Amino acid sequence: MSSTNFEVIDFHVHPLKLLSKTLLMEELDFCNVKKCVLLAIDVDHRILDKKDVKSKMVKILFDSGHWGLWAIEHIKCTLQLAKITNEEVASLMNSCPSRLIGIGSINVFFGENYVREKIEEIKKLGLKGVKIIPTLQFFDPIEKMEELRLIFDFCEKYRKLVLIHTGCDPGPWEDPRLSDNARPSRFKQIISEFPDVYVVLAHAGSYSIKFPGIWLEEALEICRKHDNVWIDIAAVSYLIFKRKFIRKIREKLGIDRVLFGSDYPVIAGKAIKDSINDVVSSKEISGEETEQILRLNALEILKHIK
Ligand SMILES: [Zn+2]
Repeated sequence: MSSTNFEVIDFHVHPLKLLSKTLLMEELDFCNVKKCVLLAIDVDHRILDKKDVKSKMVKILFDSGHWGLWAIEHIKCTLQLAKITNEEVASLMNSCPSRLIGIGSINVFFGENYVREKIEEIKKLGLKGVKIIPTLQFFDPIEKMEELRLIFDFCEKYRKLVLIHTGCDPGPWEDPRLSDNARPSRFKQIISEFPDVYVVLAHAGSYSIKFPGIWLEEALEICRKHDNVWIDIAAVSYLIFKRKFIRKIREKLGIDRVLFGSDYPVIAGKAIKDSINDVVSSKEISGEETEQILRLNALEILKHIK
């Protein structure tokens, strides 16, 4: 039986290795998810063996009182579990192409040659876009403009989507100093150079346990200037039912560029239906707007993606 009467498009799901395809499909059926965007995550725990990356991490962890002997090893383990290759996502997509939409990922940290190789891979696999995640990929968008230009250029030429993780991240990245590279404003320049590339600012710059809505204003500011930029509410579905957030979204952006995402299965204790219920039970939006967020807006942006 389905948990909702609404048909849903989930724009933000991680097909982790630990999640079987059977379980994923059961969850989608249960929640009436008709289409689902699956995200690859190109991360490499060995980056933490690099002296400058490690020492920055250690310093901030130490300052914030989170330092322990195994802290770096824990983070490495998190990265190993989070890794999802482009091939894995493509193979899932190809097993059910009418329902599953695969987005590849490129680790910008590794420089221009690596980015070029991965672009070729994504093209060959027929994936529909590129996800980048400055927190887990340890890169500063301002320092990696050339790499980003290669990705945006590819997405412009082939009508692919760019999905950018914005906001903090679980684990050590809850410390905003470690997530500074994922502030929406760090992407202002590259976005303004490519007005024809559809971009999703995942988590609307808002994810943070300590400071919910941390960089929402920055995300909305970029969307207001560029109508090719959208937001998703993965891991931050409270944006839709907490008055102070939804009012800000309504005032600065409107409802029609807001995409539903569940972030399944990475939010502990939260299934897709819980995030759907957050939207459906919101007293701040109308029935039509609920449908827009859960499905119609996604259909609209998907029209522009090949
Ligand atoms: Zn996510």
